[in-house]
Amino acid sequence: MTNIAFIGLGNMGRPMAENLIKAGHSLTVYDLNKEVVEKAVTAGAKSANSAVSALTNAKVVISMLPSGSIVKSLFTGKNGLINHLADDVLVIDSSTIAADDARYVAQACKAKGISMIDAPVSGGTAAAIAGTLTFICGGETDDYAKARPILAAMGKNIFHAGASGAGQVAKICNNMLLAVHMIGTAEALNMGTKQGLDATVLSEIMKASSGNNWSLQVYNPYPDVMPNVPSSNNYNGGFMVNLMSKDLGLAQELASKSHSPIPLGSAAAQLYELHKYSGAGELDFSSILQMLQEK
Ligand code: NAD
Repeated sequence: MTNIAFIGLGNMGRPMAENLIKAGHSLTVYDLNKEVVEKAVTAGAKSANSAVSALTNAKVVISMLPSGSIVKSLFTGKNGLINHLADDVLVIDSSTIAADDARYVAQACKAKGISMIDAPVSGGTAAAIAGTLTFICGGETDDYAKARPILAAMGKNIFHAGASGAGQVAKICNNMLLAVHMIGTAEALNMGTKQGLDATVLSEIMKASSGNNWSLQVYNPYPDVMPNVPSSNNYNGGFMVNLMSKDLGLAQELASKSHSPIPLGSAAAQLYELHKYSGAGELDFSSILQMLQEK
């Protein structure tokens, strides 16, 4: 059993925290949103009034937050957590943020003798609930080894991508590909159904054919083809358009820095940006299908 401070209990963080509790760890949680804190307390967590007070007795700190600026400010801002952490604490940031931001925070931790790994996740809310996330880690091998048993309570596949920041690079490559195949899947389903095909039948055909992909298999964007996915729940829950748009912005930065052409990734970034500004920012990213449909 490990004492863990968990910061950020949103769509992903809360089920992750609850799986740690189920695995027997002792959790103290903090989120700006009191409603989600209460839900975690009902599941067995202790609540803290601030991120700093969540650290009491913690041997591991896990953060699951929306952006790099929030992660940087939490750890290295005024009264940042690095000023309050003991040097035997392991910090695991599972947010999806720029690799440079992850390296910045890891360096700041290192300067205080604190270990930190970046450990962004893939799999979405269903995998967060089921405890079957994929963790993609960047950091020193010893720190990765220390993190593995904790991550195993929340995930099925755990990878060490390389040094600090490498987890974020791999994660952004993955999410750019996810955006591209989600848009492609939505285009195919929209075109087929407009030709009179049934969305479920067309999905089964493409799943058994060369168009098969993760969006078709577990996250169909067409309403009522699959139960328990955001498209069958008015695109609520899941992975927000705002967050996908952020990730595609990170992909564009990475592409510029590494001189890697990403024509499809850039088109996906523009489409999600348009979708966001049409008012869909808080819907799940599979709602990109709605952009293709007549209003
Ligand atoms: P979310 O917006 O649902 O949750 C973020 C939580 O952080 C909210 O509860 C918010 O109140 C809290 N928060 C924000 N600032 C805070 C602060 N300063 N202190 C404490 N709490 C704070 O987001 P999410 O969907 O849970 O995603 C979290 C991260 O995981 C993001 O970086 C996202 O890109 C990544 N991610 C999400 C998914 C997904 O399917 N939702 C999948 C993989 C990765």
